Order: sequence, then C-alpha cells, then structure tokens
Amino acid sequence: MAEKVETEGEEKKGLNFIEEIVYEDLKAGKNGGRLSTRFPPEPNGYLHIGHAKAICMDFGVAEKFGGTCNLRFDDTNPVKEDVEYVDSIREDIHWLGFDWGDREYYASDYFPKLFDLAVRLIKEGKAYVDDQTSEQIAQQKGTPTTPGTESPFRNRTPEENLDLFLRMNEGEFEEGSRVLRAKIDMASSNMHFRDPIMYRIIKHPHHRTGTKWKVYPMYDFAHGQSDYFEGVTHSICTLEFVPHRPLYDYFVNELADDTYRPRQLEFNRLNLTYTVMSKRKLLQLVKEGLVAGWDDPRMPTISGMRRRGFTAKSIRNFINMIGYTKFEALNSVSLLEHAVREDLNAISTRVMAVMNPVKVIITNYPENKVEMVEMENNPENPEEGMHQMPFSREIYIEREDFMENPPKKYFRLAPDAEVRLKGAYIVKCTGVKKDAAGNVEEIYCTYDPETRSGLPGSAKKVKGTLHWVSVQHAVDAEARLYDRLFNVENPAADERDFHEMLNPDSLKVVKGIKVEPFIAQNAEKGRHFQFQRIGYFTPDYDSTSEKLIFNRSISLKDSWEKEKKK
Ligand code: ATP
Ligand code: MG
Repeated sequence: MAEKVETEGEEKKGLNFIEEIVYEDLKAGKNGGRLSTRFPPEPNGYLHIGHAKAICMDFGVAEKFGGTCNLRFDDTNPVKEDVEYVDSIREDIHWLGFDWGDREYYASDYFPKLFDLAVRLIKEGKAYVDDQTSEQIAQQKGTPTTPGTESPFRNRTPEENLDLFLRMNEGEFEEGSRVLRAKIDMASSNMHFRDPIMYRIIKHPHHRTGTKWKVYPMYDFAHGQSDYFEGVTHSICTLEFVPHRPLYDYFVNELADDTYRPRQLEFNRLNLTYTVMSKRKLLQLVKEGLVAGWDDPRMPTISGMRRRGFTAKSIRNFINMIGYTKFEALNSVSLLEHAVREDLNAISTRVMAVMNPVKVIITNYPENKVEMVEMENNPENPEEGMHQMPFSREIYIEREDFMENPPKKYFRLAPDAEVRLKGAYIVKCTGVKKDAAGNVEEIYCTYDPETRSGLPGSAKKVKGTLHWVSVQHAVDAEARLYDRLFNVENPAADERDFHEMLNPDSLKVVKGIKVEPFIAQNAEKGRHFQFQRIGYFTPDYDSTSEKLIFNRSISLKDSWEKEKKK
C-alpha cells in the first residue's frame, strides 16, 4: 500500500493542479479513460499572451496524457467576428508549437442542435420569451443579497413562447426587442441562475452562416453544450468562469447521461505589467491608430511579439515559470523579457552594428587595403562557426564610445587612450577634428599591426573593447526601438483614461545606423541577431534589401564592460 502511494507521488511530481485533476480523473476511469480538451477563442481579435497561457494548458495537458485538443472558434456574435481573426488565430497557435489536426470546429456548427435544444426547453416549460429591454431585465436582476423580480412575461404558455421564438428567428422582430430566457430561479443565490438569457436577436450576417440565423445563443447557452457535442472531457478556462460553472452543469445536464459529461476547470489569468489584455482595448489601440496594427511589436499579441523577435520557446518558458494557480496575479513583464533574453542569447548570431556612428580614421593603415577578420557567430554554440567581416582604414564606432575629456576609469576611446577593436587591432587615439560648433567629426587613430586578434601580439591587454563597422562596406539601416506601451504598471486597474497612460516614447526610430555586410546579406525574416553591445534585433516585416529595417527585440542586459568586472 505504502509503495503504491509512493509511485503515485512519483507520477504526479511536477504536475500543476489542473493536471493533477486530469490525472485523477483518468486514473478513476472517468469518461472511459478518454481525455479531450479544447481551446475556444472568439474570433473577435488577435490572440495575446494571455491566450498563450490557455493554449499551453489546453494543448499541453492533452499532449502530456495522450489526449487530444480541439480548436473551437466560439463564433456566437457575428457583429464582432471576422475571418481575418480566424486566420491569425490558426497561425499563432501553430507558431506557438501546437496542432489540432483535423479537429477544427466552430460553435456555429452547433447552431442547429442548440436551436433544437432551446425549442425542447421551451416545450418543457423551461424557457420563455421576454419582451422587456435589456435595461429592464438588468434592473430586475436583484443583488447577491436581494432576490430578483420575475418578468411579467415569465408565465407565457409553451405554445406562445415557441411561436414567438420561431418568429424571432424569422426576423420578424427588431434587435433588442425580445430575448429567450431560461426559466430557473429569480431568487437563486447564484446570479447566473436568475433566468439567464439564452438567445438574442442579431440581424448582422455571420461570417460562416450568413443570414440563416436571426437569433444567436449566449456564451452560457453555447459553451457547455458545444463541449458536450464534441466529447470534450475537461473544459479548462479562467477563474472568472467559476460562478458560471453551475449554469454550465445545468445546461449540460439537459443533454448528458451518466456515461459522459464535460467538466469545467478554472485557472488564473495571465496579466502583464505595463500593458492591457482586454481585446476591447487592444482593438481600440488599433482602430485609433495608436499602434500600427494588431501585430505592432509593442502589442501584447502573439503576432506582435513574433514580429518583435520574441521566440515561441521563450513565451512557452515564461508561461511555465509563472505557472497555474487559483489566485489572480499581475505578472511582471521583466520575467517575460528575461525568458526572451535567455533564448535569444542561445540562438542569435553575433554581429556588429553601429547605432550612432562617428568616423575613425586609422592614419597608419594603408589606404586601399581591406582585411577580412573572423567573427564567431555564437559563442553559446561553437557549431555555428564563424563569418568574415571587412576591416579597412576608415571605420565607424559609436559616438558614445569616445570622450574628449573622460572621467577616471573610462575604458573606451579618448585622446592618447588605447582600445581593442573587437576581432581586429588595438588602436590609439591621436587626435580629433571638430566642426564649428565643437562636435567631433572625425577621430584619428594609429593601429599596431602586431596586435591583430589571433596573433601573439593580441595578448596585449587593454581595458576597453569596441564594436565597429568598416565605412566603405557598411550598409545603412533603420532600427526601431521599443519600450513599454504604457507607463503605468497596471493600466487596467487605473481610473484614468487609458490614452493618458500611454508611453509617448514606446517607439523610437533610429535612421542611418551602420551594419556590417553580413547582416545585410542574411536579413531574412525570422532571423535573430545580437548586435554586439547593443541588443537583440530581427528584420521587420517591412524590411527590404533596398531599405533594411530592424526591430530591437530586447536590449542586452550586460555590456562587455560589466561582464569583465565580474
Ligand atoms: P473576450 O473579452 O473577448 O471574451 P477573452 O480574452 O476571454 O476575450 P476568448 O477568445 O474568449 O477571449 O478567450 C479564449 C480562451 O483564452 C478562453 O478560454 C479564455 O479563458 C482564455 N484567456 C483569455 N484571456 C486570458 C488570459 N489573460 N490568461 C489566460 N487565459 C486567457
Ligand atoms: Mg471570452
């Protein structure tokens, strides 16, 4: 006996609380030992990182225990839904690394069955047509401590209800003039049981069923039954649905027998600092042109993060780190950024780009000479080998890497100071040329041919190492630097209008950066670069060979200087 408990502990190790429940259900042989989950997005917007948490759960648990996960579009509100969203949702789930095989379903596929169930409930006296407005119905709802008021239309005969409901679906009545409600209990302690609305009239055409239907089911009347029709065993959703669960079970009971019934389980939502997760607000950002679209790299959408250069793996790792609990929390975006850095550090090709260039002339280097120096592609993965980078008499370095009157312990370039040009030579500053306003226009240096990286003289120690790009070989590019979209930690909890909380500096465009030729030759979409000492970058979708554009995925945590001090 003790031994059995121990094996159980072994098997359960590392399971989150939802997986434990699934494990126990499977072990108890519920639903014939079958496991089926679903991810049920409403196609009314693009998926965001919160959805990624749900996707990792729904598909992840199915994978873990040998079950299946359906993709079900919850398309019950034609007014807000669009095929553009359907397509983007499919793409994003695949990109995250999950697949639903041929199990792509739509709640609208079940409209006939749901309608039949509604008709049955009407005939059984369990549903009625209410002619009141939604305001009147809301006023009669009561409060959690005071019972609601029964509608004057509550006791219509089944015949009259059926006649009205069929005519509602024929399009005879205006939107908002009538609804179908379940006749349950206006005094229930669960507000969701106070005669919830099952159907409303909508005359807007549906993206799949066209103008066939004039009545559309509410979420609560569609979701559990759709789960049931598909044979879903574990219907996993977020905590706000806890109070809906009794109603979910109530409608499922109208269909299910004792051999199978879907079970709703809830976990905590993902909320991220310095952004919003509500699709309504994200849509507003897009519609008002406050961002460049759903896939703007500042958006918390999957497509925005992909465009920005976040990897699917880093998003999955982040979701793993925050875990699943029964308590709402606000997750720090820094943790996501940490996961992104960790993965990009492992996979990015190291290259050189100068963001704010100033010219350096190496006066003792031959005018027409070009040497190729070897650059390691990725010290984290030596198998990725090397690439060559041209060195010549004139190079660019960062303006910030030179100071005419440096403070003590300044290890970059200054008059009479020496620095190593990464992968090439040690140079010494001999002078500068300034314009009328006193700005440095050119820096003059001499180099020591014995100090080339790889030669015996390269053992010579200097404190600073700079990145650089050869002037005649440099390619111009644009860099887009992103910062947090909001300058408030939790905009959703703030009373102010969200426009006031937008970070005005969330996008900085830097034109005229200089990149090494290797970058230009390899700037295909989806490629990840580390611009050394600057950050991680990826070509933007708008980038072309004529006009290179790079998104900064994330800044580097440490510069070479800081690493050396360790
Ligand atoms: P809406 O406000 O339009 O209903 P929604 O965010 O609930 O938006 P859905 O398309 O209904 O969007 O969500 C699909 C699934 O993703 C649901 O199961 C939902 O629980 C889950 N989900 C949505 N937002 C989050 C989040 N922030 N964290 C975890 N799961 C989420
Ligand atoms: Mg929803």
